[in-house]
Amino acid sequence: MNYIKNNIEIINEKIEKARIKSGRKDDKIKLLAVSKFHPAESVIEAINAGQTLFGENRVQEADKKFSQLYENYTNISLHLIGQLQSNKVKTAVKIAKCIQSVDRIPLLELIEKQCTIQNKNIEILLEVHTGEESKSGFDSEKELYNALDLLAQNKYPHIIPKGFMTMAPFTSDEKLIHKSFETLRKIQENCLKNYTNLELKELSMGMSNDYEIAIQEGSTIVRIGTAIFGERNY
Ligand SMILES: *Cc1c(COP(=O)(O)O)cnc(C)c1O
Repeated sequence: MNYIKNNIEIINEKIEKARIKSGRKDDKIKLLAVSKFHPAESVIEAINAGQTLFGENRVQEADKKFSQLYENYTNISLHLIGQLQSNKVKTAVKIAKCIQSVDRIPLLELIEKQCTIQNKNIEILLEVHTGEESKSGFDSEKELYNALDLLAQNKYPHIIPKGFMTMAPFTSDEKLIHKSFETLRKIQENCLKNYTNLELKELSMGMSNDYEIAIQEGSTIVRIGTAIFGERNY
């Protein structure tokens, strides 16, 4: 039995079922396989099962794993999903196609600077706080909109904003989870009206325990670790 391949098939089926159940006509739900704390061999197993999109949350670990993998697998791409320290931006820009966890304006400045040096464009998502729990994400909506203003003015020509990311609170209360995802969707709807020159179509929301709810609320990228690779040994 191929454990990872089997899990990916099951998740893809569940994503499709949730999409149909939610009445969504679009088929734009991407599966991001979160391989943090799992070895390159597991990533390769996923690649062999047809998976091309991966997520990691720690830059050093991602660099070690994916610099190698890129040599043999040219069609895979990596999204960074963990809070990004300033001193890791250089490596982050080197290895990632997308940084989903942009949570402050100074980070945009640093990413733009590194992109200029490395002569590379990079996609980003803006991470927003939507739950009660204070985790990562922009501190305030004001700050978020300031960032969007700057992006809309093309202050960061190497940065391509694609949308938003959030984490729901860790709770079994499904109402709170719905509310968190709904909050992000409403922010997106508002921004699509106000920033017509930005694309912003992606909503990265939903993890192993709540991705079906996220899909009901309009998620376009689900970030799944445990349900694909198994429990992590921290
Ligand atoms: C680890 C992680 C995930 C995946 O979590 P699972 O519960 O294992 O699916 C998703 N998003 C972020 C930001 C993460 O850090």
